[in-house]
Amino acid sequence: RQRAAFRVGAPDYERRRAALRALLNALVDRREEFVAAVNEDFGGRARQETLALELVPLTDGIRYALRHLASWMKPRREVAALNFLPASTQVVAQPLGVVGVIGAWNYPVLLSLSPVVDALAAGNHVLLKPSELAPRTAELLKDFLGSLFNAEHVAVVSGGAEVAAAFAALPFDHLLFTGSTRVGKLVMRAASEHLTPVTLELGGKSPAIIHREFPLRTAAERILTGKLYNAGQTCLAPDYVLVHESQRDEFLRLAAEVTQQLYPTLAGNPDYTHIINREHYERLAEYLREAADLGARVMPLSVHAEGCNAESRVFVPAAVLDAPDNAQVMSEEIFGPVLPIMTYRELDDALAYVNARPRPLALYYFDWNTSRVERVLSATTSGGVTVNDVIYHIAQNNLPFGGVGASGIGAYHGRTGFETFSHRKAVLVQKRFSALQFIRPPYGAMASRVIKFLLRK
Ligand code: NAD
Repeated sequence: RQRAAFRVGAPDYERRRAALRALLNALVDRREEFVAAVNEDFGGRARQETLALELVPLTDGIRYALRHLASWMKPRREVAALNFLPASTQVVAQPLGVVGVIGAWNYPVLLSLSPVVDALAAGNHVLLKPSELAPRTAELLKDFLGSLFNAEHVAVVSGGAEVAAAFAALPFDHLLFTGSTRVGKLVMRAASEHLTPVTLELGGKSPAIIHREFPLRTAAERILTGKLYNAGQTCLAPDYVLVHESQRDEFLRLAAEVTQQLYPTLAGNPDYTHIINREHYERLAEYLREAADLGARVMPLSVHAEGCNAESRVFVPAAVLDAPDNAQVMSEEIFGPVLPIMTYRELDDALAYVNARPRPLALYYFDWNTSRVERVLSATTSGGVTVNDVIYHIAQNNLPFGGVGASGIGAYHGRTGFETFSHRKAVLVQKRFSALQFIRPPYGAMASRVIKFLLRK
C-alpha cells in the first residue's frame, strides 16, 4: 500500500513540511508521554535524559530540516563538460520510495524517529520497526505516528527478532538499521536479496585517549559524565580509557570522585538509569566476573551498592584495571557502566592499540595541543570524533552521523540524511545546437581535429 501510494504521488515540498511540522508539534506536546514510556521500559530512566538526550536532538533536527529543506531540494545545476556545450546538467534529489527503519532500544525515541525525520524530509514513505526491548515506547510510537499520518505514508510494525528478520527481507528502497554489528550482518544479508541499499548504524568499542598534559580532572569529569548517561547504554559512550601509565591511579581516584559527585547514591536515585533488562544486567556482571578470573582488578566507582542487583537492575559503576585482551570486557562492546582503564607509554603506542582493532564508532582525544590533535585525527579512523569531550559530535546537524568498517555503513542527520534517503539523479539536457555533431560518421578532418584537441595533455 505504501508503494502504491508513493507511485500515485511522492510527497512534495508542502507535504514534507507539513509532516515535519506535525511531528515537531506533537513531540513537544506529548513529551511527557515519551518520558513515562521510556521510564517504564528501563524500570527507571532519568527524565532529563529522555528530554535532553532524545527529544531535544530530535526536535532540533526537525527544525533544522524545516529551515534547510527548500535548499536541499533545489536541483543543483552546472554547465556540461566543454565538448558537450551548450548542454546543461543538473542533479535532482528524488525520493527513493518506501524506506524501512529498524530502531534500537537504548534511545528508543531518538533512534526510531530521527531516521524517520530524514526519510520524510527526503519525500519517502516510511515503515518503522522499533525495538521489542522497549515495548512501551514501541506501542507509544505506533499510537503517536498513527495519530499523525495515514498508514500509506508512515506505519509502525511491532514484534521481536522474527518480525525484524521478516522486515529486513522486505523489498524496501532503502533500509536503515541501528543495532549491533552481529545483527547488522544479518540485515545486510537479507537486504541483498532485493539489492536494497542499507545504512547500518552499529556500535563498537569507542576509545577515549587522554594526553598526559591535559588536566586529568576535566577529562575524568567529561568522560564519566558521558559514560554514565543512560548507565552506559549509549552507542557513543567512551568504552575504555587510555591514560599515560604515570596517571592511571590518579585517573581512577578522580573517576570515583566524579562518580560520587554525579550520583551521590545509586538505587532510588532518579538520575541514575537502570539496565534495560535482566539479561543485559547479567551480561555486564559476567564481564566483571570473567575479567577478575583472568587477573584484572575490578574497582567499584561508588560505595553505594545497597539495592543494586539483577532485580532492581541498578548496576554499580566500575573501573577495570589490567584487563587482558581476551577478556570480554576488552573484546566486546561494553554497553553499560563499566570502564576499563588501559595505559600507554608513548602516544603512538595508544594509537597503535586503537588501530590494531576494529574501527570504532567514535574516538575521543583530550589534548589542548592542536598539532597533536591533527596528528591523532589523521592517524586514526572512526565514525566520528569529539575532541576534549565525548559524544557531542552526534548532536550537530551539520555533521554526518555514522560508523566506518565494523561500526557501520553510511550516515544520516541533516543534509547527509536527506541525501541518504534520496536518489541523486543525473540529468543532461541537450540543446538545439550540439558540439557532438562534429564527431559523427563519416569521420573527416574536422572529427580528427576535435578529437586531437580533446586528447591534449
Ligand atoms: P541488536 O542488534 O541486538 O538489535 C537491534 C534490533 O535488531 C532489534 O529491534 C531487533 O528486533 C532487530 N533484529 C534482531 N534480529 C534481527 C534479524 N535477524 N534481522 C533484522 N533485525 C533483527 O542491538 P541492540 O541490543 O538493540 O543495541 C545495541 C547495539 O546497537 C550496540 O552495539 C550499540 O552500539 C548499537 N547502537 C548503535 C547506534 C548508532 O547509532 N550507531 C545507536 C544505538 C545502538
